[in-house]
Amino acid sequence: MNTPDWRKLTLNDGVLQEPMPGDNHLVLWLPGPREDGFQYWERINKVARAEPTAEHGIGATPALAIRARQRVRGLFGKLWPRFGKDSGDQNWVLPNGETAEQCGARHADVVLAWALDGEPPLDEGRIKARWPAATRCQPIGKNLCLVFGVEPPPAEEAAGPPPSLECPRATAQQLLAAARGGRDRQREVSALVDLGIIDLNEGNARTAVTQLEQALAIARELVDPGRELDVLGNLGMATMSTGQVHKALALFEQELAQARALNSPFGEKMAMTHLGFAQGNLRNHFQAIAHFDEALAMARSLGDRKHEPELLWYESIQYAELGQREQAIAKAQEAIAFQEKVGNPQAKWFAFHLNRYQLGAKEIIPAAAADAGGGWIVAGAAMNPPTPGQTAAGPGLLRMALSAAASMAKFLGSGMKMVTPGLYQKRIQTCATCEHHTGVRCRLCGCFTNVKARMPHEQCPIKKWPA
Ligand code: SF4
Repeated sequence: MNTPDWRKLTLNDGVLQEPMPGDNHLVLWLPGPREDGFQYWERINKVARAEPTAEHGIGATPALAIRARQRVRGLFGKLWPRFGKDSGDQNWVLPNGETAEQCGARHADVVLAWALDGEPPLDEGRIKARWPAATRCQPIGKNLCLVFGVEPPPAEEAAGPPPSLECPRATAQQLLAAARGGRDRQREVSALVDLGIIDLNEGNARTAVTQLEQALAIARELVDPGRELDVLGNLGMATMSTGQVHKALALFEQELAQARALNSPFGEKMAMTHLGFAQGNLRNHFQAIAHFDEALAMARSLGDRKHEPELLWYESIQYAELGQREQAIAKAQEAIAFQEKVGNPQAKWFAFHLNRYQLGAKEIIPAAAADAGGGWIVAGAAMNPPTPGQTAAGPGLLRMALSAAASMAKFLGSGMKMVTPGLYQKRIQTCATCEHHTGVRCRLCGCFTNVKARMPHEQCPIKKWPA
């Protein structure tokens, strides 16, 4: 049976294809109506493990369909990043970099269909003869149709492949289920850590602690020091977010000892950064600066151009806390100059907040910023969480830059320039085969690949990505 080459489809105008690793995954976005201030879409995910069928001269393979909607924003909305509380529904990133939220349930009664070689083109009559109960047939490309209302595939097939890197939570949940089903305890640890970080990033620190404590118990049972190292730092961050700073400090000290025992410079740099957060939280600002300084030296020797300006900014906050305004401004300016040099678009946000700090401005912390921050600004929150409604001034303004930058990264549709789909695909393919990748996250830098791989200024910490 001839099967389409999923990487070389000729699609109808307006149909978008997500860059995906391998040649058996396919995710398409079909534009729908524009109504009530929303552009509607359908996300079609081919079930990768399902065997295609051939009957009545028609090839078919099961797919899953999800409806999503994207708010149509005016000029102001396009210029200003989306600060807003998530609706609670699943958010997706479209191949064009815009975001959309899921609306409605997932449908498994869908197939992608094509005419087999030598058979007449598909038309409604042929589709109805093959699937009498079909409710909708939509041509979406050259010799390719979507048919709705067919018998859904068995539950196991409908679960499908990991739902792509675009949805880290769904992917991590699927990886966890697969690890437990296959009794792969090492992968179970990684998936639990991913889920813990996602919970923390969404502001659910207590749930995160539960997931990460489970992961730590398994890693210790397995005597897997590499995975234990990954758990310790993240468990410490989650623990600190619940207000247990001394307990977190003890976890970070274990993390540092483990990183040194494993001779892991990336692990040591991360542990040193975490210790800086904890000391900053305890208002031991000189100790925090000393830890950040050590981490900064390591970041420089590793050529880590993402972490270097972040560490400079953390130091700036500590100097501001100490009332050492000149040093705070100097460190912040150094961070911004570095970001500008590497083409990081977040530089403008940091410059904006530095300017407000220099002017001695005061800002009301918006509820949305704190929500968007949650754990996405773990760095800022870890040192002193933002409280919505309060007035930020001095170091608080510098911390707000972290939440603004994190929101930019979280909501990719905020006008940031993206790499081409081809380069994105090459990057995620490289990560997919890398021993440091958990399935959604790089253990070395701690970044989620779905966001990081789209950013032109980002790089693989060990230079594995193609130029
Ligand atoms: S080390 Fe590089 S290739 Fe490996 S997961 Fe991290 S970013 Fe990807």
